[in-house]
Amino acid sequence: MMFLLDSHCDAPLMLAKGADFGRRVEQGYTPGKFPITHVDFRRMKKGGVNGSFFAIYTSNALQPDAATRRALELISRVYDAVERNLDLVSLTTTPSQARRNARNGLISIFMGMENGAPIQKDLSMLRMFRRLGITYMTLTHARSNEICDSCTSPEPRWHGVSPFGREVIAEMNRLGMMIDVSHISDESFWDVLKYSKAPVVATHSCCRALNVHPRNMTDEMISAMAERGGVIQINFYPSFLDSDYNAKVSELIDVEEVTQVEWLKDPSDPALQERMRAAVEAMNAVPRPSYRKIVDHIDHVVQLVGVRHVGLGSDFDGIETCPDGLEDISRMQKIIIELRRRGYSESDIRLIAGGNFLRVMETVQQMAD
Ligand SMILES: [Zn+2]
Repeated sequence: MMFLLDSHCDAPLMLAKGADFGRRVEQGYTPGKFPITHVDFRRMKKGGVNGSFFAIYTSNALQPDAATRRALELISRVYDAVERNLDLVSLTTTPSQARRNARNGLISIFMGMENGAPIQKDLSMLRMFRRLGITYMTLTHARSNEICDSCTSPEPRWHGVSPFGREVIAEMNRLGMMIDVSHISDESFWDVLKYSKAPVVATHSCCRALNVHPRNMTDEMISAMAERGGVIQINFYPSFLDSDYNAKVSELIDVEEVTQVEWLKDPSDPALQERMRAAVEAMNAVPRPSYRKIVDHIDHVVQLVGVRHVGLGSDFDGIETCPDGLEDISRMQKIIIELRRRGYSESDIRLIAGGNFLRVMETVQQMAD
């Protein structure tokens, strides 16, 4: 049976803004319309999605207590949304539970934590978040934190993983939590591979060989991760997928990011709303790469390390724009159709669609003490 899995989306951000996932939140993609959401439970069902990891994301700008509070808030929103829609979804922490849910026609909602800031410098907080249902942790986000450096930090703080970060890695191994290397610096990545006893995952990253971007992984990194049994889940963000597109929009993205910081401080201010809308519209005016680019990145990984180390990590609801043809989660089958068109066998497609990620998750959980 095919298990179609998305290893990373930022849907909890939309839940925190009040979106009702039991209803169709947005009729797909409307150019220039804001806010654009990419995920809800009904569109997941339409896209044939069996499981999705909802990211409990905190910004590196939040001070430790605020990050912890924000993480708890997002987790509570996910709990509430799942509880209100038990006919559609089930909160899930293990692959066997996920497969059982799929047989019963339920979509599995997993939680991952994006940025380790909410655990502060306290391993018992890590254990608490694990108990709350967090199954992976992206060690940091756009800036360095107490655990390691980010690939987009202006200056490295640790030149890799910090001494506390080494303790976090050991404890995550012990707890059977997956370590997510998306967003971390190259130096941090190599440290993680050195210290982690279990395979690691990149829940939403692309290939640097196809687009030189610090968020994308080099062939050496992908090969080393695969050798240790890990998996790279291809991100749908057009700027990571396509170098021409990225060159055209990088300046516009900077404007959008600065505007968003202002807008988030006071989302009800009409002037800020208008500036935010205009920033998104300017980006939407640039022609977007086709969703087939996602499959180009999959092809690249398959040629490099074989079919057992790649999957899908959309980053939906965390990205400003989507590839042409894949504007929301309801269109996920297009990737499956494109994989078939390129000659992948059904068993290979099952691995890419979710089998690989579930296998790594199972391994990591089985290695737990
Ligand atoms: Zn991310």
